[in-house]
Amino acid sequence: MHNAMNHCLKGASSLDILRQLIGFDTTSARSNLALMAWVQGYLSRHGVKSELIFNEDETKANLYATIGPAGRAGVMLSGHTDTVPVTGQHWTRPPHSLSEDNGRLYGRGSADMKGFIAVALAAVPAMQAAPLHTPIHLALSYDEEIGCVGVRRLIESLRQQPIKPGLCIIGEPTRMQVVNKHKGKLAARVTVRGKACHSGMAPEGVNAVNHAARLIVWLEQQAKKRQQQGPFEAGYDIPFSSIHTGTVQGGTALNIVPDHCSFVFEMRNIAAEDPRDLLAELRTQADVQLREMHQLDDSCGIDIDITSEYPGLSTAEDSEAIAFVSQLTGRPAPGDARLGNINFGTEGGLFSQALQIPTLVCGPGSMDQGHKPDEFIEQCQIEQCQAFMGRLIERLSIP
Ligand SMILES: [Zn+2]
Repeated sequence: MHNAMNHCLKGASSLDILRQLIGFDTTSARSNLALMAWVQGYLSRHGVKSELIFNEDETKANLYATIGPAGRAGVMLSGHTDTVPVTGQHWTRPPHSLSEDNGRLYGRGSADMKGFIAVALAAVPAMQAAPLHTPIHLALSYDEEIGCVGVRRLIESLRQQPIKPGLCIIGEPTRMQVVNKHKGKLAARVTVRGKACHSGMAPEGVNAVNHAARLIVWLEQQAKKRQQQGPFEAGYDIPFSSIHTGTVQGGTALNIVPDHCSFVFEMRNIAAEDPRDLLAELRTQADVQLREMHQLDDSCGIDIDITSEYPGLSTAEDSEAIAFVSQLTGRPAPGDARLGNINFGTEGGLFSQALQIPTLVCGPGSMDQGHKPDEFIEQCQIEQCQAFMGRLIERLSIP
């Protein structure tokens, strides 16, 4: 009988590869090309061709590779190679070199999400050796952490292909639970331009801080309305769309009526809501205030600019994709499989909305450790993911 698991153990181990990947500082602000060059070298040593899809100034790239028969849909394993910064965090270990301690593997990106990428790459020799009837695609992206930016170029390139993957597994950390949905997100900056004057003459100025404050309160009212009246969607810790203002800057001195104030806010929306609708309502509210502002000065303004946006993921609970991936986790029959729940976004919404690829999130480690100092992944999570890859290879091979 063909045993994919044994092949897994022959190539470089997941641990060796994870050590390599963590050694590259791929904070989103930096280039990921050195890491990608290493991955390309590794893949080519195992006879796998890969393609890089670059950003505009060719400082970063996505990677796409196919193992197994060409011209068939296949299963795409997707991960981002960038990480959040360590700046301002108190690490007690070197963030960009793997350290092992008591069953835990420490390093920036260990959980989010170089652990998954390492396991997928370690399984490549087994994929190559297996008689695959259905191909496995590797899709590695850049600039995920700054709003799923990089993967959009990969999606455009996949759109050109005659046959698209039939299933996408995003290996973000879910402790290997199958997750079929997450919220979408829209973040925007609001900039209010008022009219300055001496504070003793306040009624002759246009106070930008006051106008920004009114918009912030309006957003807070929208947030409360959703909390009380919905719409609601089960399966989330926060079962409605949340709206939140994060930072505000405005004014220069107490004795000057401020002519400038800006703030950033976000909406994390459930499937029933389109955050662009909130944006349109905010615009209407801003226009009401603007008419008031223009009575004093025509040059006043309120700009609303989207700073990042990605769609939510919502894969039907009765989909074949869930049954298939649940089996790979080694958990009970698909009907019994409990779906996991995550409070963060992934590139999955883009794959499923832009390309209609059934998409699920399932990967090793936990986001409890992601983005934090002394980020780690448990060795046993890596082992569970190795078993998952072994089952995937078996399911896609000729018996
Ligand atoms: Zn991530």
